[in-house]
Amino acid sequence: MSQKNKLINDPIHGYMSFEKWAIEVIDTPHFQRLRDIKQLGTTYYVFPSASHNRFEHSLGTAHLAYTLTKRLQEQSGVEKSDHDLECVTLAALCHDLGHGPYSHVFDSIVIPYLKPSSKWKHEKGSEMMVEHLFEKLESYSIDLSSDDVKYIQALIKGDSTGISPYLFDIVSNERNSVDVDKFDYLARDCYQLGMKSLFDFSRLMQFSRVMDDQIVYYHKECFNIYEMFHTRYSLHKKVYSHRVSGAIDYMIRDALVEANSSLKIADAIENAEEYIQLSDSILNKIEYSNLEGLTKSKEIIKQLRRRKLYKFVDECLIPKDKKDDMMKAINEREIISYRNGNVSLHEDDVIVDWKTLNYAKKDENPVDAVKFYNDGDSTFPVPRSKVSYLFPVQYEEYIVRIFARKPDKVISIDICCLIVSSRVTIDQSTFVKKKNKKVEAIQGAFRELAKKLGLEPSQGFLKSGSRKRRFSEENP
Ligand SMILES: [Zn+2]
Repeated sequence: MSQKNKLINDPIHGYMSFEKWAIEVIDTPHFQRLRDIKQLGTTYYVFPSASHNRFEHSLGTAHLAYTLTKRLQEQSGVEKSDHDLECVTLAALCHDLGHGPYSHVFDSIVIPYLKPSSKWKHEKGSEMMVEHLFEKLESYSIDLSSDDVKYIQALIKGDSTGISPYLFDIVSNERNSVDVDKFDYLARDCYQLGMKSLFDFSRLMQFSRVMDDQIVYYHKECFNIYEMFHTRYSLHKKVYSHRVSGAIDYMIRDALVEANSSLKIADAIENAEEYIQLSDSILNKIEYSNLEGLTKSKEIIKQLRRRKLYKFVDECLIPKDKKDDMMKAINEREIISYRNGNVSLHEDDVIVDWKTLNYAKKDENPVDAVKFYNDGDSTFPVPRSKVSYLFPVQYEEYIVRIFARKPDKVISIDICCLIVSSRVTIDQSTFVKKKNKKVEAIQGAFRELAKKLGLEPSQGFLKSGSRKRRFSEENP
């Protein structure tokens, strides 16, 4: 290790060593901004220990990219190039520079709302930020041409340019989604959430090599790879798509939408100088601003601070063959048309949210696109039937969720009542019913519509009045 290297201690990877050229990138405002973007966005409001940021995830991803590239380059027949090693590591370091406030909230629901014709995603933001970062870097310790910057951008996108294609599998693997970005975030998120995963990325890295211009794995690692996709799916199902953080996502969306004409938040995606200033701190900026036109936005943030949240109402799993029809049939206007005659409900009271959960390769099994090796010279796929009969038969699912913007206004009083009632064992359902009148009205209307469409609302979720309440962060 060179004396110029810096060691950074990390709970997942232990001591991570970074060379001077990596530290110079880390110490830029572009990279430091990631300290202010929660890795899991609003999940932090439900799981208080999920307080990690894009900053440490990017360091971890770069550490793994460096380790894996170096390992693969030691293999005979693979070109050993310091330049490739540097570019892949820089790509890993910079791959999430484009994330906006609250990570996926910004590119999944804020920008599509404010700029409906735009196809902008955080990857596009990363491209812009990488270009700007290297443009502004004065006297960089390694030679980096504009073609090298394009190479780094392509490595982030996983867009193989034809030269050493295996290098494009490392940061963002378009071929089969097995990449160091996932290795880091699955381990880090599980650690921060206090959850366990049986997926072992370090073992997988040990049993990887370059053959046929791609990264391939020892055939006995196939189950480990399935375990990776299963862990990712489980985290999406149980954590990333948690219904309370889903409600908070929409509160933050509404707050940013209301503030947009004063603060021009959405325009920042076109301008790196402005984008550097945009992070989770935007909520504080709105709260403490004296600018005109922020009253509504401030009100929503105030509700969030006091945990007077939008409410989850109901959800349905949608069969694959019905997805397109259902997306047309289920919307805010349609739901309120099923309201009980004497209930006042407006489109604005309801939010319809569509989620797609999969194994990271749309409705395909990503493991079908992974190649394996054994003791011979050839690579081959490993069919599911040779590994287990218990794998999924379908690799993508669709969920529609309904949220209510206006729960009853006496929520804080009712929480007191509930706490009192739990102590004196009064039937809590009386209070829940009273509190969630609006939620129940939307639930009733949605269930009528779902019935007409032949859908079953998912079991085990909120059914106001009968679900036993728990006093945790989940139930505000
Ligand atoms: Zn990432």
